[in-house]
Amino acid sequence: GDAKPKDSPAEHADDDDEEVSDPQNTNLSDKVSLYRGDITKLKIDAIVNAANKSLLGGGGVDGCIHRAAGPKLLSACRQLNGCNTGEAKITPGFDLPTKHVIHTVGPIAKGNCDERLKRQLKSCYDSSLKLLETQDLKSIAFPCISTGIYGFPQDDAAEIAVSTIKEWLFEKRAPVDRIIFCVFLESDHKIYKEKMLQHFPID
Ligand code: ADP
Repeated sequence: GDAKPKDSPAEHADDDDEEVSDPQNTNLSDKVSLYRGDITKLKIDAIVNAANKSLLGGGGVDGCIHRAAGPKLLSACRQLNGCNTGEAKITPGFDLPTKHVIHTVGPIAKGNCDERLKRQLKSCYDSSLKLLETQDLKSIAFPCISTGIYGFPQDDAAEIAVSTIKEWLFEKRAPVDRIIFCVFLESDHKIYKEKMLQHFPID
């Protein structure tokens, strides 16, 4: 039961004086974890797929997810009529251990990283989180969206991923149990470890 208006601006600043006294707000970093491995193995409410606009499957993590979910996932995706860059759509997980797959389409960056690409990548995280909220799901895992075939620079992408999740957790007061950054490459593991220490310092 969330009675708040959906159109309230991102920097709704009515929580200034509650921050210190609200016990729910003190351990937001406990909700975030870093996992290196195959996202299709996670038994969780939702995993995010770095899909392409067609939503009809592709290489990389998208291919892994479709293989592990079975052909029903492709049938479900056919009903969705594709997806625009920065947006997200949800399906069941079918044969996957996850309950749902949130398909989002990252920008094709080809090694570049301008403001527009950054906005689009941030929007992938925000759109996925919005679905998590509207479907009342409590746990989600993100792969490193756009940083494979789509060529978004890994470090910039990780900064966007971690800062967007942090912003969202603070804003929404963590209405979730767990958010997982699921990295696949050792290079991303290293980058994310550092970003998480910066954004979620242990004191
Ligand atoms: P994009 O097209 O958005 O760049 P890719 O699937 O090519 O998406 O790559 C996104 C990230 O997903 C890369 O870091 C890649 O190493 C990683 N990846 C590939 N397979 C898996 C998997 N099974 N689980 C988690 N991450 C994966």
